[in-house]
Amino acid sequence: MHTEIICIGSELLIGSMNTNGAYISEKLATVGLKVNREIAVGDDFPELENVFSESLDRCDIIVTTGGLGPTFDDITREVVSKDTGKKLVPDKNVLKTILEFFEKKKIKMPKVNEKQSYILEGAEIIPNSLGTASGQILEIKNKIIILLPGPPRELKPMFENNVLPYLKKKFERGLLKIKVLHTVGLAESVVDEKIRKIVDIEKKLEGSEVSFSILAKHTGVDMKIIVSGTDEMLIDKTIQNLKKEFYDVLKDSIFGEDNQTLESVVGELLLKKRKTLAVAESCTGGLISHRLTNVAGSSMYFKEGIVTYSDISKKRLLGVKDETLNRYGAVSSDVAQEMAEGIKKTSGTNFGISTTGIAGPKPSSTGKPVGLVFIALASNDGTKVQQFQFTGSRAEIKDKIATAALDILRMNLI
Ligand code: ATP
Ligand code: MG
Repeated sequence: MHTEIICIGSELLIGSMNTNGAYISEKLATVGLKVNREIAVGDDFPELENVFSESLDRCDIIVTTGGLGPTFDDITREVVSKDTGKKLVPDKNVLKTILEFFEKKKIKMPKVNEKQSYILEGAEIIPNSLGTASGQILEIKNKIIILLPGPPRELKPMFENNVLPYLKKKFERGLLKIKVLHTVGLAESVVDEKIRKIVDIEKKLEGSEVSFSILAKHTGVDMKIIVSGTDEMLIDKTIQNLKKEFYDVLKDSIFGEDNQTLESVVGELLLKKRKTLAVAESCTGGLISHRLTNVAGSSMYFKEGIVTYSDISKKRLLGVKDETLNRYGAVSSDVAQEMAEGIKKTSGTNFGISTTGIAGPKPSSTGKPVGLVFIALASNDGTKVQQFQFTGSRAEIKDKIATAALDILRMNLI
């Protein structure tokens, strides 16, 4: 099923964000339709005509957004009419709803809006409760053309209430299940290399179809296994088998599945092992505590989190020694160790975690580089400190440090 999205609007070519494309492709995936291309094109008749007729040649499904307004530069209807040979015919009911739209606002309908009541011959109308541009679904020679307005607040309800149910019915392909596996600590290229053998083989098992996607975020890489078919048992079995293959190559780098987060997994492990945790943060500014407390029920294991941003508070609240600070500086393995041991001791927990580093964007006055971080984990077995060198913006570096700290704890608990 070859599917393309054409986003129409000159503003999209001079810097305006095209959010419709991403929204539509995400929604299409939920009914098992993968988008092959997304094209942005200006409000230019010959240009759009070219783009549209090319897409029409190769596509089974085309979704367009924008250009359904009343003004001279809204040309989508006319271009589609020309390329498909379907006439535009005025629709009395659509005109009535446009008139009512203006009546409600106590405005006389401008003459130009009449143009919005023209529908491609044979098309199904998608009502627009928030604007005057109706959408249209045209079926022509086994191809489907869907026209939608540009404003996201109008497009989204139309897509959800009309387009998705229409597509679901049209492509009744039984069931579709998605399994997401979350990894941490590996670069996208490393994950890719490890899973290549699994995803390269086209898996067309009897009665079920399989596809994969990989999404790299700055804190980790997610993999999606998408299986469709008609036999639920077979789909579940296929997912189980593929999952096992992924676990075999990625091992402990997979921290969770589907809706699980690193902090929810850490929480489950702490609960299971009946262990408690306290956190002393410097460069992460409370982010680890924030993430841990995003999990409902975290009070069972998370006891305390403090932000010791200055040397004075590191000394006063955690007992970090003057001598250590003077000798090694606040961003050092020794200070991280004393911080973790300090918070564990004062809070009386099983684990103490600490972070100290340089989030940037400028290096420290002592010349330590941006992204240099020390994370310590104090437990009853002693204290381990790890050094990292992260890259990215200040916010990304903070995220990466919090993620690494939570992962150190996870690895200690499995
Ligand atoms: P209208 O009746 O509002 O003119 P329309 O279908 O003609 O509807 P456009 O004129 O193309 O739509 O776009 C209207 C507005 O919708 C744009 O100014 C922009 O703010 C938003 N918009 C259009 N296309 C997109 C897109 N691809 N992504 C996000 N926003 C968009
Ligand atoms: Mg417009």
